[in-house]
Amino acid sequence: MSLIELRGIRKTYRQGELLVEVLKGVDLKVEKGDFLAIMGASGSGKSTLLYIIGCLESPTDGKYILEGSEVSRLGDDELSAIRNQKLGFVFQSFYLIPYLTVLENVLVPTIYSKRHLDFKSRARGLLRKVGLEERLFFLPSELSGGQKQRTAIVRSLINDPDIVLADEPTGQLDSKSSSQVMEILTALNKDGKTIILVTHDEATASYAKRRVIMKDGLIYPV
Ligand code: ADP
Ligand code: MG
Repeated sequence: MSLIELRGIRKTYRQGELLVEVLKGVDLKVEKGDFLAIMGASGSGKSTLLYIIGCLESPTDGKYILEGSEVSRLGDDELSAIRNQKLGFVFQSFYLIPYLTVLENVLVPTIYSKRHLDFKSRARGLLRKVGLEERLFFLPSELSGGQKQRTAIVRSLINDPDIVLADEPTGQLDSKSSSQVMEILTALNKDGKTIILVTHDEATASYAKRRVIMKDGLIYPV
C-alpha cells in the first residue's frame, strides 16, 4: 500500500462563465520516505495538486487514498485531524503571523493538538537545529527571508507530521538561503519524513529523489 495514491484526479474551476479543467485525470503514487519534486510551468496546476494532496482542496473527480483511507469519505473532523497531525505545510510566502514571535508562531499548530507534549521545549530544540536559537523572541518583520522560511519549516514540524508539503519554498529566497532551506528538507527526508515539493526551479528540484512534471493537466516522469 502506498502512503499516497491519486487515481484519475480531476479539478475544474469556474472562472466567470468558463469552466477551466486544471487537472485532467492525474495518477500518482508516493511511498513512505519518498522525496518528490513536482515541476512545471506557472499556471500548470502544481499548487492545485499539492492542495488536494494536503486535503486543503477537494478534487472534482477521482480517488485520493491517504494511508489506505479514501479522503472523500472522511468527515470534517477527521480531515482537520489529518491536516493538523499528519501533514506539515510550507508555503512560498511563509504565512507567519506578524504580531507573534518566532517561538509563538511555531507553537500555533499545537493549539489544536490533543497530545500532551512539552511543545515549548520541542519548539526550542527544532529552532536550534535550524540555527534560529538566537531569534526565539524576534518578530517576523525582524527576520530575513531565509529565517522566516526556517521558522515556517519548524512550525510545519511541531506536531511531528509524517508528510511535509512545500509549495515553492524557495520562491522568495536568494540562492544561499534556498540551499539552506533545501538542506533542511533533505535532512528531514533522511530522518524518515516523506516530502512533496512543488517548484519551477531546477536547482531546488535537484534535491529531490524523484521528479515529475505537470503539463496540460497531467503528470509525466522527468
Ligand atoms: P501553479 O501552481 O502551477 O502555478 P495553480 O494550481 O495555482 O498553478 O493554478 C492552475 C490554474 O488554475 C490557473 O490557471 C489558475 O488561474 C487556476 N486556479 C487556481 N485556483 C483557482 C481558483 N480558486 N479559482 C479559479 N481558478 C483557479
Ligand atoms: Mg503555484
